[in-house]
Amino acid sequence: MTSPIVRFAPSPTGRIHIGNARVALFNYLFAATHHGRFILRFDDTDFARSSEEFAAAIEVDLAWLGITPDATFRQSQRVALYEAAAAKLRSAERLYPCYETPEELEKRRKMQQARGLPPVYDRAALRLTEADRSRFEAEGRRPHWRFRLDPGVVEWNDLIRGPAHIDCAALSDPVLIREDGSFLYTLPSVADDIDMSVTHVIRGEDHVTNTAVQLQLYAALAPQAAPPLFAHHNLLIGAGGEGLSKRTGSLSIASLREEGYEAMAVAALATLTGSSDNVHAVRSLAELAQSFDIAHVSRNPARFDPDDLETLTHRTLALFDFEDVRDRLAALDVVGHKAEPLWRAARGNLARFDDILEWWRVVEAEIEPTREDPAFLKEAAELLPAEPWDEASWAAWTADVKTATGRKGKALFHPLRLALTAKESGPELAALLPLIGRFRALSRLTGESRIA
Ligand code: GLU
Repeated sequence: MTSPIVRFAPSPTGRIHIGNARVALFNYLFAATHHGRFILRFDDTDFARSSEEFAAAIEVDLAWLGITPDATFRQSQRVALYEAAAAKLRSAERLYPCYETPEELEKRRKMQQARGLPPVYDRAALRLTEADRSRFEAEGRRPHWRFRLDPGVVEWNDLIRGPAHIDCAALSDPVLIREDGSFLYTLPSVADDIDMSVTHVIRGEDHVTNTAVQLQLYAALAPQAAPPLFAHHNLLIGAGGEGLSKRTGSLSIASLREEGYEAMAVAALATLTGSSDNVHAVRSLAELAQSFDIAHVSRNPARFDPDDLETLTHRTLALFDFEDVRDRLAALDVVGHKAEPLWRAARGNLARFDDILEWWRVVEAEIEPTREDPAFLKEAAELLPAEPWDEASWAAWTADVKTATGRKGKALFHPLRLALTAKESGPELAALLPLIGRFRALSRLTGESRIA
């Protein structure tokens, strides 16, 4: 394959949720696996609903997921290209003005339904004379513009769904331009895909019908060029089978980030849910890309369970090397020579990244130790070896305590853990003890900083 060019084309009319992130990831990973380019293109021709704030927020969310576009465009700045495309369609008599009001169209649809006919636009506007049009204009009506579809079946070989076909005779001629002259999504998207040499359009299966229309637009606008290849992926559904809409606020990327889920956990779950690959934790998008194959996406709906983010976040953290998180630790003031060994000791015990602070306190600050059996702890404290300590010190010390007290197993270890960390469970004490150090260990075991 020559280097593919793909695009993620969100409408900046809200925050992106996990379903949108999934489209972005499919495109990004596809480009990454084939050494291609990933374009971020804001579908912001709906001026009333689009905003610059949402566009900026989408960029933040993508960056959090590790997605950096090779180029970014806004359709609102490219209207001249769409005007030129519309002019081309007009001169080929593929774009025609219509003057029906929404109410008139609705009435016609109801009549068609009552007669058992499909609610397809009847092309009445094609029969208007010049005089009819002048009369409407004189009444103050402005036209909207429809694309005249060729009747017949449009076929393509979908990279996910296999051979696909849509009978355009069953479709209404789509409106491309509104009464106020603004463009709906359909035409700008094709004009841009042609202009940007997009090779693959990867998007949700809710766009399958658009694809038939848009393939006709490609043919009308760039008859010599091959249209892009299409891949329509399954859509995410909630655990109860419900669809995820943009308004599912709790599944917005922003709220998942605020809940402390790891970006790589969100990315892995969004990408692997509904595919033939097992959902597993990854350290980076580069790692996710290694096994990514768009053909592995299933044709069945993808059931998404946000509870999986808990386990995946925990497992993702356990995979991170110190280098992966050095900057994030520094942002929490977890710095200095203890930062790396603490990370290695504690990374398998974290539900959230910030939980590292609890273990940082255990090795670097004061805690309220739980002293269940002070006499035993005092005896153990007296046996603490001299520093320097390493990861073997714990085994050596507890062997001595075992010999001296006759305790073993939980009766030996649990009171020591409680006193040293104030927690019932956690990272290996062999790793923690040298970081806690003799001074703090003594004080936690006995309540005093030196043995009398
Ligand atoms: N703005 C459209 C959407 O978010 C883009 C669809 C496409 O990729 O062509 O659904």
